[in-house]
Amino acid sequence: MVNNSAAANPSLNRRQVAQALNIPPEMAARNGIPSRMLASAVAEIDANPPAWLAQSRANSTGKRPVWVELRCYVCDFHELARPKKWWPEFSYVMCDFHSDRDLPAPAAGVRRSQFDGVGSRFRGFTDTRDDA
Ligand SMILES: [Zn+2]
Repeated sequence: MVNNSAAANPSLNRRQVAQALNIPPEMAARNGIPSRMLASAVAEIDANPPAWLAQSRANSTGKRPVWVELRCYVCDFHELARPKKWWPEFSYVMCDFHSDRDLPAPAAGVRRSQFDGVGSRFRGFTDTRDDA
């Protein structure tokens, strides 16, 4: 039997709560977010943020995103990940087990750089013009 009330109001772990509130997990833990919360309670915090969350939101305008969605160009697998400082803007992201041949060939005069270890299972690619 499917429990419909649980499906309508799932319990989120702290990482999912942090994603929903767009804050780092460490901030969630530091401010007393429990290890599991009901989605309705998270929505309540989102709608009526406590002082620490309101402050964080006021401070974070215009900064790099706390979470980025990585989506595989080849198979559409996706995940939310915390961006690392050294991540550029990727032209393509794909699972690390796909072949480079699954990507469109770079245009003439475009140099493709690869970044390993992006998220849990991705490689990132940036296409840049040499004459830039
Ligand atoms: Zn993939």
